[in-house]
Amino acid sequence: MNRLIYEECGVFGAWMETPTAVPLTLFGLIALQHRGQESAGFACVQVDSISHKRGMGLVDDAFRGLDLDAYASHGAIGHVRYSTSGGSINANIQPLVFSGRLGPIALAHNGNLVNAAVIRNQLEQQGSIFQTTTDSEVIAHLLARSTTSDLDGALVSALGQVRGAYALVMLTPERLLAVRDPYGVRPLVLGKADRGWVVASETCALDTVGAVFEREVEPGEMISISDQGVESMPLFPARQSAFCIFEYIYFARPDSEFAGRNVHRVRRAMGRKLAEEAPCDADIVTGVPDSSLSAAAGYAEASGLPYETGLIRNRYLGRTFIRPNPEQRDQGVALKLNPIRGVVENKRVVLVDDSIVRGTTSKRIVKMLRNAGAKEVHVRIASPPVRHGCGLGIDTRDELIAQRMSPEEIGKHIAADSIAFLSSKSTVAATGLPRKSMCMGCFDGSHPVKGEEF
Ligand code: SF4
Repeated sequence: MNRLIYEECGVFGAWMETPTAVPLTLFGLIALQHRGQESAGFACVQVDSISHKRGMGLVDDAFRGLDLDAYASHGAIGHVRYSTSGGSINANIQPLVFSGRLGPIALAHNGNLVNAAVIRNQLEQQGSIFQTTTDSEVIAHLLARSTTSDLDGALVSALGQVRGAYALVMLTPERLLAVRDPYGVRPLVLGKADRGWVVASETCALDTVGAVFEREVEPGEMISISDQGVESMPLFPARQSAFCIFEYIYFARPDSEFAGRNVHRVRRAMGRKLAEEAPCDADIVTGVPDSSLSAAAGYAEASGLPYETGLIRNRYLGRTFIRPNPEQRDQGVALKLNPIRGVVENKRVVLVDDSIVRGTTSKRIVKMLRNAGAKEVHVRIASPPVRHGCGLGIDTRDELIAQRMSPEEIGKHIAADSIAFLSSKSTVAATGLPRKSMCMGCFDGSHPVKGEEF
C-alpha cells in the first residue's frame, strides 16, 4: 500500500443496442476508481455529435445530480485520472473531445508517451495550439494533421509517431475503438454485455456491469465496435510483450485478471514465496491495507503464523483530501491507517507490504505499530526494491529510497527489526508468466521503451 506510486488512469467504453451506454460507463468507472481519483469524465454519442461531461474528484462527486436522461446514448467512453503528465487542472480531464476533418472524436488514454514533449514542441513550432498540458493531446493533434482520409489510417500514422505506453478508448458517432500499444504495457480487456460490448482497463469493471470477459486487446491491436459487430485490426506488429508487473503487485484490483491470472492469487503466491525466502521468528502476520492483504495472507499460509488484521484503513479519504503539511505528516498517515492495539500489543509482528518507494510511509507505520505496543516489527516486502523511475504511466517522481540505500540500510532507516524483499525471480515465478513477457523496468531498468524520463 505505498500510495507514493500512483496509478494514473482507468478507461472504459460501451457500445450498446440500447441507450444505456452512459450509466454503464459510469458504473465501469466506479469499478476502476482505484486507478485514479483526481478527476473523471465521460463522452457519449448524441445523434451525429459527441457530448461530454467532466469533473474533479471521485466519479460519484464529479457526476452528482447528473440528469442521465439527457445523456441517453448507445455509445460512450469514460476515464478516471490521476495526473502523471500534465497538472491537476480542469482542462486536463479526459476524455478529450475534438472535431476536424475526420469528424467528432473523443479519446481517453491510460499510459504515458515518452516522446510527447518533443512532438509537442515540434507541433507548436508549426503553429498547433494545445488546450491541455497532457501528453494524450499529442495524439489528437497528430490525428488531426494526418493526411489520410479515414480514421484507421490516421491512427496508424499518429500512433506510429509516438513512443511509450497507451491503452486508448476512442469514440466516434459510428464506432467505439480500443487500441493497445505494441508492448501491451497497460491492460485493456473486451467484454460481452447483454445487448452490447464493453472495453475496460480491468476485468473487475466487466464484472460490475454484468459483462462477460471475452479477451484482452492484443498488443498493437485495434478493436473496432459498431452496430455491425466487433472487428479486430492489427495496427502494428506486436513487439515482445512488456506488461507492467506492477499491475499484479499493486495497481490492479485483487478481483481482476490478466493473462488468466487472478491478481489476488498472484499476490498471495508472492506472499508465500516471500515466507519461503525470508522466514521470520514472530507471533503474527499482518498486511498494510488494502493492496498488501493478499500477500500477507500468503505469507501467513506458508509460514504457519496466524494472519491478523493489525491495521485498519479509513476508506473515506479521497485523493483530493487536504494534503497535510510536512509537520502534520504523521497525522496524515494516522488519518489513513490505525493499528488495532489489542492485536499487536506485546506481539512480534511480521508486517507485509507490496512495495517501498520513498520509505516515509513504511517508517510511520513501523512507528505506529510500536506505539501500539508491538514488541518487534519485521518488514517483508512482496516485490524487489524499486531502484528506477517509470515513464510509462506510473508516477515515481518521488525520491526512490532503494536508489541510495541497501535493503539493510532501508530497514535501519524505517526502524524495522528486520527487512527483506522478494527476489525478482520469485516475483516473476508468482505470476506464472515468462519473465520476458513483462516490464520490470522499475526494478532492474529494463524498460521496453527508453525516453527522457528514464
Ligand atoms: S517500469 Fe515498473 S511501474 Fe513502470 S511499466 Fe515497467 S514495471 Fe510497470
